[in-house]
Amino acid sequence: MSKQETRVISVSRREDLPALAEAARVIRGGGLVAFPTETVYGLGANALDPAAVGKIFVAKGRPGDNPLIVHIAREGELDRLVTRVPDRARPLLARFWPGPLTLIFPKQDHIPAETTAGLPTVAVRMPAHPVALALIDMAGVPIAAPSANLSGRPSPTTAQHVLADLAGRVDIVIDGGRTDVGVESTVLDVTVDPPVLLRPGGITREELEEFLPDLQVDTGVGGLPPREDFRPRSPGMKYTHYAPEAEVVVVEGPVEAVQEKIRDLARFYREQGLKVGIMASRETAAAYGEGEVLVVGGRDELASVAANLFASFRRFDALGVDIILAEGFEAVGLGLAIMNRLRKAAGYRIVKAGEG
Ligand code: AMP
Ligand code: MG
Repeated sequence: MSKQETRVISVSRREDLPALAEAARVIRGGGLVAFPTETVYGLGANALDPAAVGKIFVAKGRPGDNPLIVHIAREGELDRLVTRVPDRARPLLARFWPGPLTLIFPKQDHIPAETTAGLPTVAVRMPAHPVALALIDMAGVPIAAPSANLSGRPSPTTAQHVLADLAGRVDIVIDGGRTDVGVESTVLDVTVDPPVLLRPGGITREELEEFLPDLQVDTGVGGLPPREDFRPRSPGMKYTHYAPEAEVVVVEGPVEAVQEKIRDLARFYREQGLKVGIMASRETAAAYGEGEVLVVGGRDELASVAANLFASFRRFDALGVDIILAEGFEAVGLGLAIMNRLRKAAGYRIVKAGEG
């Protein structure tokens, strides 16, 4: 894509929302707009315009077989995108929309193949962010939007992260401050019964299980390495993801053993002349002493850990560390989404502490 000028529109209060009119025009005209959602920043284009959607793939360097999530502002818009809303999806819509839950439906024919990567299904979500909702509403079209990062990089949780990756590649970046949730939406396939969790995210597995006691969980959701014969149901799950430039190693196990193992590994890598970053929790950080130690949150504050996760990857890169040693968290509640991202960022370099 040729270099272009990227305009930044700041929207921090409700009174600023009219400034989105220009961004809405750009979407309608087939351009690209990065915008905040409650999960991460999205890179949006008119979901019904194949040429516009094609620009998303070019700007991100995203593999063409990885489908996009279509964002809507009202539940009624779903009926213009899908052929059927399964009965079991209705209570989920009522409870979790707007919010970080993406559902997979059978698609209507007019949705371009570019948007769904040729699949007969479409992923749809109604975000819970006033800027995202106003933009979709003003554009008057559904907005296809993956995360607004270069493919493979950590998802952006601030407009500055978006600009670091995509300045000159998109028309407009809307700056709405830091995003709230910090990890992407949960992806749930409701075209099958029982429904299948394809990607853990802002809505937890336990929250879904209150409505879907028979919920199935796809291989790979825990972020563990795919088996050789793994055929992902969600194309995005086969790609390395979320990775900073530094190598990431996740250390899992009881917290005392994790601390000890990280101290050992840090010493080992420093002896080899490497610059080590440690992703720590508030309770453990002091034990690591000097060096590049970032606190992502308390061990019981998984919402804070999720909110800080991707920003800390980018911060470590800015600090120029060669290797990041990250404490693992228990894969329950938001911990499942956190561990999925951490293990993938680590390319499955997982060290078990306190065993044998
Ligand atoms: P991203 O927007 O980059 O966070 O990625 C969206 C995720 O949703 C990817 O993992 C996609 O593979 C997944 N996805 C999008 N559409 C579909 C679909 N029709 N069926 C299954 N997974 C999908
Ligand atoms: Mg992404």
